[in-house]
Amino acid sequence: MKVCDKLYIDGQWVAPLDGGPGPIDVIDSSTEEVIGRVAQGSVKDVDVAVAAARAAFETWSQTPVDVRAKYLRDIGAALTARFSDIASVIQGEVGSPKAFAEMVQAGLSVGDWENYASVIENFEWEEQLGNSLVVREPIGVVGAITPWNYPLYLIVCKVGPALAAGCTVVLKPASLTPLNAILLTEVIDEVGLPAGVFNLVPGPGGEVGEALAKHPDIDMVSLTGSGPVGAQVSKDAADTVKRVGLELGGKSANVVLDDADPQAVAMGAVFSCFLNSGQTCSALTRLLIPRSREQEFLDAIVEEASKVKLVDPHADEPDIFHSLGPMVSRQQAETVRNYIQKGIDEGAKVLVGGPEQPEGFEKGYYVKPTVFAGVTPDMTIAQEEIFGPVLSVLTYEDDDDAVRIANGTVFGLSGAVQSADVERAKRVALRMRTGQVDINGAPFNTQAPFGGYKQSGNTRERGRWGLEEFLETKSIQLP
Ligand code: NAD
Repeated sequence: MKVCDKLYIDGQWVAPLDGGPGPIDVIDSSTEEVIGRVAQGSVKDVDVAVAAARAAFETWSQTPVDVRAKYLRDIGAALTARFSDIASVIQGEVGSPKAFAEMVQAGLSVGDWENYASVIENFEWEEQLGNSLVVREPIGVVGAITPWNYPLYLIVCKVGPALAAGCTVVLKPASLTPLNAILLTEVIDEVGLPAGVFNLVPGPGGEVGEALAKHPDIDMVSLTGSGPVGAQVSKDAADTVKRVGLELGGKSANVVLDDADPQAVAMGAVFSCFLNSGQTCSALTRLLIPRSREQEFLDAIVEEASKVKLVDPHADEPDIFHSLGPMVSRQQAETVRNYIQKGIDEGAKVLVGGPEQPEGFEKGYYVKPTVFAGVTPDMTIAQEEIFGPVLSVLTYEDDDDAVRIANGTVFGLSGAVQSADVERAKRVALRMRTGQVDINGAPFNTQAPFGGYKQSGNTRERGRWGLEEFLETKSIQLP
């Protein structure tokens, strides 16, 4: 069991002031056992951490790019040395199966530091425009608030570019999954990042998160999380007119055009929805198929979804495409089951799965991977983010109808188009009101911008765009 009774502020591990709100237990999602205990901070600790980050900003922001890049590479290397610890922690606190935890959760988290080092080395920090010198500068002190689903990678998507930009950071990780953040902090301490540049204050969202959003000495708050929390953070940040970066939820559409091959589409359609047990913001949770070929596509999807099995995240199960762990928490499992029941109540037809407790998994927060057919665009399971392994299959009449349904939610995070004709797929992709679209299962690109339209957010993370979120722009007029 991992116990951390300290916060990390100004380069030191320190006890929460006045004891803080008390420690939180970290639960293994598959065994329901306590695997860690972590100290939580309060508003007072946030004040101290922000003061440390403010004091460190002047020097860190003026630190040459090559020196900052070296620190990033050192962090990446030190994290790589702890690769299996990262994967193992995330198998426990999130419930990601071993192969997925290694390849995706740990793999993305250790690899991205090199990306940001290289982005700042190749970035145009200044530009001459007539008699003006236009310079890009770090925005200042950043409050970073992160979720539990890809807990370390989503921290890296903020802390990496913020540090690269020359900002200093106070991080509040998700309360369900703080162990990976502690591991990262140990690494940051080990590589000797200057004191105050990075600070860690775990704690309740409504207290520590709120304090970061409201703090007058924080220049930007960057949240990855749910829509309601995003709205609250925006309101809390408004009085101090700080920049607010939001990466929020989705209900993304996978549009299968009528020339696509059902067998070629089925595996990706199921995997991209059930990924990380459906706890993926960009999961393609609405599958739009042509009414003219409905049965063919349904048959292929049912065959594929029936191969998916629930597994113990700690077991050696190499088939990443067909192995699902539990939900992160009991509450999340209940939320997902309630949505499945709601789908049934509203008239959708369960083809695979259902709301019952899966047999043989009485312990752990498991739910049955579920596929619904007969879903109409107005149903709850076609509109709301479920954040579990639930695929809603809808039919459409023609391409215009498909685009209308795809764009018919409050979200706009991700999407996909499947077609035998890539140019036709591109035309549909360009009409989708969403931050990214994958054509025919094209691979994820960690250098490409990632973020949402509409209520899915207002920012872009990753690569050069991720860096720019943390920059200000100044014009210096030359005589
Ligand atoms: P959440 O909104 O409940 O919590 C996110 C973070 O905000 C946590 O650290 C939480 O403690 C904190 N928080 C809660 N209340 C707060 C408040 N009042 N002020 C400040 N901070 C507060 O989300 P979650 O359940 O951890 O994560 C799941 C959600 O995150 C889903 O909606 C998912 O789609 C979204 N998400 C989006 C992306 C993306 O890149 N767009 C990536 C992953 C997850």
